[in-house]
Amino acid sequence: MTVPPRFRPATLLVHGGTERTPYGETSEALFLTSGFVYDNAEQAEATFVGTVQHYQYSRFGNPTVVMLEQRLALLENAEACRVTATGMAAVHATLMSHLKRGDRLVASRALFGSCHWIVSTLLPRYGIEGVFVDGGDLEQWRTALSKPTQMVLLETPSNPMLDIIDLAAVSELAHKAGALVAVDNVFATPLLQQPLTLGADIVIYSCTKHIDGQGRVLGGAVLGPRKWIEDTLQPFIRNTGPALSPFNAWMLLKGLETLPLRVNAATASAGAVADFLAAQPGIVRVLYPERSDHPQHRLAMSQMSAGGSLVTFDVAGGKDAAFKVMNALRLVKISNNLGDSKSLATHPATTTHMRIGAEERARLGIGDGVVRLSVGLEDAADLLDDLAGALAGMRDSA
Ligand SMILES: *Cc1c(COP(=O)(O)O)cnc(C)c1O
Repeated sequence: MTVPPRFRPATLLVHGGTERTPYGETSEALFLTSGFVYDNAEQAEATFVGTVQHYQYSRFGNPTVVMLEQRLALLENAEACRVTATGMAAVHATLMSHLKRGDRLVASRALFGSCHWIVSTLLPRYGIEGVFVDGGDLEQWRTALSKPTQMVLLETPSNPMLDIIDLAAVSELAHKAGALVAVDNVFATPLLQQPLTLGADIVIYSCTKHIDGQGRVLGGAVLGPRKWIEDTLQPFIRNTGPALSPFNAWMLLKGLETLPLRVNAATASAGAVADFLAAQPGIVRVLYPERSDHPQHRLAMSQMSAGGSLVTFDVAGGKDAAFKVMNALRLVKISNNLGDSKSLATHPATTTHMRIGAEERARLGIGDGVVRLSVGLEDAADLLDDLAGALAGMRDSA
């Protein structure tokens, strides 16, 4: 690695992990190649035996992809990192490489939809038990983790209600039960929350979100102990093939360079948006971890350095009113994605959380008036104007 980890995050994100070719290029080289050639048959043999270090095939490793893995590992202060084609491939590889028939996984109920499907539907097909708990209730974690358990999967802040889970307390309970703790850290980003320093073992990202941050490519990452990554995760990835394209790795490397600028700007605007919404008639409640009226504000601020770029609010009048507000937005776009430079509004009950059913939505507090806002990089004053206009329209037509 060319940059020792003593540099601060913003510096690591510009220089960390860069390896230059003999041409001395400034920007990271894009190795858009599926395979690699050997000088002779002996070198090929020695590479496969492992006595010579040489790239073999881009499903196993690629220089551009490795630069991204090194940069992410330096940022997170993790021993090792592997990247994947999507965030879901990262979650899937983490669970399926570690768990086997007869094992048990405990997960927070408020999980990203596809993660919920893996735990509730896919794992049981292979004889792996998945147990859900309410993430904010430590007693439920204690009960669920009173039996031997191999893995814990959780998300904090959660999508879309921004529930917070006590990472240190759950990690301690999980370790007593023999489990590795995997944290989906997408909402906080690696800049605002470092689960590994709070006791977690593995951190997972959908790089599709803030790491790309400009709505262009899909990608995923898993970070954790070198031994687990090399002995457990790597053979699974190598042989099942969720490899990240070098092109996408290159986009993500360049995305990382501006991550602090983007996350800080979006977070500042999100705070302003949350405060603005909380003062508006017709809004039942606003959820934003940095606001003192968030139900877990103290816990949130003890493990996050800022509230992040997502704001969730509940519009009085349910689905009709929420749809009216969303349809009246001119600048903010309707999309189920998040972590983009463009501000995006989502109605979880009818889109991202439609499939989990009304009963599970009620348990998670995802009402029909709930709107999730991913705040982007527009001028905050323009976002407030857009929201003000949309809310005024809703009230006039009510
Ligand atoms: C988007 C997302 C994922 C899945 O990532 P993809 O890149 O879409 O596969 C997983 N967890 C969370 C919290 C997400 O926001």
